[in-house]
Amino acid sequence: MLPGKCPRKIAADVASESGMSKERDRVLGMDCSISRRDFLNGCALTVGASLAASPEWFKLLAQAEGAPEKDPSYYPPAKTGMRGSHDGSWEVAHAMRDGETWPDAVDEKESYDLVVVGGGISGLASAYFFRKFAGPNSKILVLDNHDDFGGHAKRNEFQTGRRLLIGYGGTQSLEAPHHYSKKAFGLLQELGIEVDRFHKYFDQNLYKGMGLKRATFFDKETFSVDRLLPGFGTHYLGLSYTPEVLTQIPISEAARKDLTTLQDTKVDYLQGLSADEKRRKLIKTSYKDYLLQYVKVHPDVVKIFQSAPHGLYAVGIDAVSAWDCLEMEYPGFGGMNLQSREDSPEQAEPYIFHFPDGNASVARLLVRSLISGSVPGTTMEDVVTSRANYARLDDSESAVRIRLNSTAVRANHVGDPHDAKQVEVTYIRGGKTYKVRGAHCVLACYNMVIPYLCPEMPEKQKQALHYCVKLPLVYTNVQMRNWESFQKLGVSSIYAPGGYFNGASLDFPVSIGEYRFPSSPQEPCLLHLLRTPCKPGLPAKDQYRAGRYELMTTPFEVFERNVRDQLGRMLAGGGFDSARDIQAITVNRWPHGYAYEYNPLFEPLDRPASERPCVIGRQAFGRIHIANSDADGHAYTNIAIDQGYRAVREITADGKHEAVAAGA
Ligand SMILES: Cc1cc2nc3c(=O)[nH]c(=O)nc-3n(C[C@H](O)[C@H](O)[C@H](O)COP(=O)(O)OP(=O)(O)OC[C@H]3O[C@@H](n4cnc5c(N)ncnc54)[C@H](O)[C@@H]3O)c2cc1C
Repeated sequence: MLPGKCPRKIAADVASESGMSKERDRVLGMDCSISRRDFLNGCALTVGASLAASPEWFKLLAQAEGAPEKDPSYYPPAKTGMRGSHDGSWEVAHAMRDGETWPDAVDEKESYDLVVVGGGISGLASAYFFRKFAGPNSKILVLDNHDDFGGHAKRNEFQTGRRLLIGYGGTQSLEAPHHYSKKAFGLLQELGIEVDRFHKYFDQNLYKGMGLKRATFFDKETFSVDRLLPGFGTHYLGLSYTPEVLTQIPISEAARKDLTTLQDTKVDYLQGLSADEKRRKLIKTSYKDYLLQYVKVHPDVVKIFQSAPHGLYAVGIDAVSAWDCLEMEYPGFGGMNLQSREDSPEQAEPYIFHFPDGNASVARLLVRSLISGSVPGTTMEDVVTSRANYARLDDSESAVRIRLNSTAVRANHVGDPHDAKQVEVTYIRGGKTYKVRGAHCVLACYNMVIPYLCPEMPEKQKQALHYCVKLPLVYTNVQMRNWESFQKLGVSSIYAPGGYFNGASLDFPVSIGEYRFPSSPQEPCLLHLLRTPCKPGLPAKDQYRAGRYELMTTPFEVFERNVRDQLGRMLAGGGFDSARDIQAITVNRWPHGYAYEYNPLFEPLDRPASERPCVIGRQAFGRIHIANSDADGHAYTNIAIDQGYRAVREITADGKHEAVAAGA
């Protein structure tokens, strides 16, 4: 089978081509004009006198200057359709990987104290810390290849009538923030984020109070029948169901019996082994193999759990260790007398630290603090509805500048890396090659890109940086006319073990500042869908590579058709009609998503921390320093901040930063 051509996708493609599918498409609403307010990039308008001083005139002026961000209508959060790593953001980097070279750069004689590559939370935090330690007048340039800042921390906006709905296209929540390092927590506080206020802003009782539950959708392709089962939940922390619900699971009687045994009885399936031997065995055994070979369940039980860990691992139980599943409280370990994590931060703190746009608010607060007038306002509350002014981001009057739509293709020292005084960064923007100089450079981009940017790095370091294979995943936001179907069905989130989308959840009920969550089912709201395009059976990294290929070759229309088909089937019993009820769709595809976290199934055990590839990879190379959450192999916002801090302290802790830059 070709990578990227899973049977379900082929079925969808074929169906769309056949005449028969025309009627199906009509029912799904594929012919509806859902709003896709894509920004007009590089449109060829004729300049006429009548355009002067009109929005079109400003647009043309901005384009003529090669600065689309200066156009007053430039506002990426409001775009729908394909977002995340959108078209236009990745092509140059892929060409660089494939050995492309570019004509001589335009040298605009710009020099900075620091040039940061990557405008995600780590790059923005690097700029923040550098200014803090090197002085408020530090000249800093941040380059990013996307049309928006924030990296994975991406804001999605939807306008429905006069109402604004705000969603997150990536980095979702501050997870267990009280367990953040002092630097990371301190940064949040300096930005004005008082995390405890979320106890007031997040309505933890909304869905529960309405009697809404988790549900599982069994699809006919996997389970022979389409069935939504409220009250049956396989989720992050294990399994929950009642005896009545059990009888309705569309699996064989034998499988149902095995499921009950697995859940309720305390058997030691590794009898005879010591606690340490059991731990080692479970670390090196996938949960799937554990279920089949040790617990000896019916294969239908495996089908139920297959994609349960997708949201965290971006692969299924065939590539997640039984030990990790024990720690997530999946069933089957009750009789083994084993201690899981003693202190699990996730358990200690509720999952409520969520801005409506996810951690894009953190990125926006960083930008607000770095560039005056860029994100109006002063508080963690007003940032939620504040409209960013993209024209301010790259302003020659500002000490800190953020240059979007700019892909770095080279970072090299001016002279010998050991005693060079400057780093030259070459980047492509609007098809042209430019270069700037910095006294220092922080590469806060995906770490596996770095060997292409700095080919003269030591071979061992490049190998280590290449080791990281980021996890692909897709966060899709669907704007719905209302959420009455969820209320009727009594569900707030749905797990779909065999679905194209692994699950769908009503948005987090957070009201903050002037933003009000649509808490009545009659109101329009956002639905969040997850897809992880893995290929079960392969080693984890190969699944990620195959998934990435699939993401890059799947057009928006295929996602749209699957959204419409799956929601229509899951919510049919609640009166949901895809053609009528879906108002807009934003697909945030992240072919390079979560940082690669070492998966014990496929990694050596007991590797010393100093030999972790991310540690070898993140060493300073002359005046080039390395940040990003990849640099610590953990896909979290606090890690992105900590790594930005570390990279900057490599520069500022020894006074090297007093050098050159402006005017050099
Ligand atoms: C879908 C999703 C959900 C997540 N949810 C959470 C969550 O709930 N909580 C949490 O703590 N973490 C979450 N994460 C992890 C998230 O990755 C981190 O929290 C954090 O946002 C990473 O920030 P970063 O700056 O290290 O990397 P990124 O956000 O990836 O930023 C790096 C930036 O560098 C850019 N870049 C790469 N190469 C170049 C180049 N050559 N030139 C210019 N720019 C370049 C990239 O395009 C990107 O914009 C999630 C991640 C994803 C993908």
